[in-house]
Amino acid sequence: MSQRPGFPVKLSQTGASGTARKTPSPVSARSSAQLNPVVTSSQAVRTATPRTASPVSGLGLESGAVRARMVRKLAEQGVQDARVLEAMGQVERHRFVESALVNQAYEDTSLPIGLGQTISKPNVVARMVELLCQNVPGKLGRVLEIGTGCGYQAAVLSHVATEVYSIERLRGLHEKARTNLRPFRLHNVHLIFGDGMLGYPKGAPYAGIISAAGGDAVPDAWLDQLATGGRLIAPTITPAGHQALVVVLKTAQGFERQVLEAVHFVPLKSGVA
Ligand code: SAH
Repeated sequence: MSQRPGFPVKLSQTGASGTARKTPSPVSARSSAQLNPVVTSSQAVRTATPRTASPVSGLGLESGAVRARMVRKLAEQGVQDARVLEAMGQVERHRFVESALVNQAYEDTSLPIGLGQTISKPNVVARMVELLCQNVPGKLGRVLEIGTGCGYQAAVLSHVATEVYSIERLRGLHEKARTNLRPFRLHNVHLIFGDGMLGYPKGAPYAGIISAAGGDAVPDAWLDQLATGGRLIAPTITPAGHQALVVVLKTAQGFERQVLEAVHFVPLKSGVA
């Protein structure tokens, strides 16, 4: 076992100690949780489904059948964790995409969500959440998601983790996610506007950290904010120069890193916009 992750993970010399970090954002997790009580039980999700007529009514997307079919496909593709399959079956992906794209919401395809960003394919979301849950019996504890985007993955995470802190650097998407998530009343989802490269120290330590954007290296802050025993899943550039899923486990002895399959995520960028 390596004591420290080799490339692509860079470690700070000072570890978790107080390196200066920017204050995350004016919209704190707490204030956003208050403003936006965002579901914990599957029952609550179902009952909170908006019943008003919408451009999607009549397409059969409200029925669980279309999600059940997606879940069967995910299982055929190798997703095994029952918690993850259950969560994927619960969250209505069509409520997170533009109305012109709702017909494609349950296909295994990534879709544009505005501002040049994309929502990952269901298969990639399920794979990453499964990696996050690996070897954790029951619910995960606090999880940090970098890149809220439209809020879909945050909603999936809310079913497998006790608390979800999700940070987005683009104000337009942060607001869109807030709007998308509001009807679901997911009380354990906290949306933060800020630069996720700095992590979100207020919620640390995290049992899991998951990035929806790919960087050249895993930021030090993420490693610092990971709990011992926690795991981090992030698309990262490998020494071979392509982006792959990297899993980092934090143990009492140090970090263990695994490089998995090649992926294509939008870039991790610093600062907010
Ligand atoms: N999980 C999202 C996927 C969004 S795509 C969903 O379910 O929709 C990745 C997101 O990461 C983009 O919205 C992008 O703006 C955001 N991102 C990139 N760099 C970031 C950073 N440093 N901090 C926070 N968000 C970041």
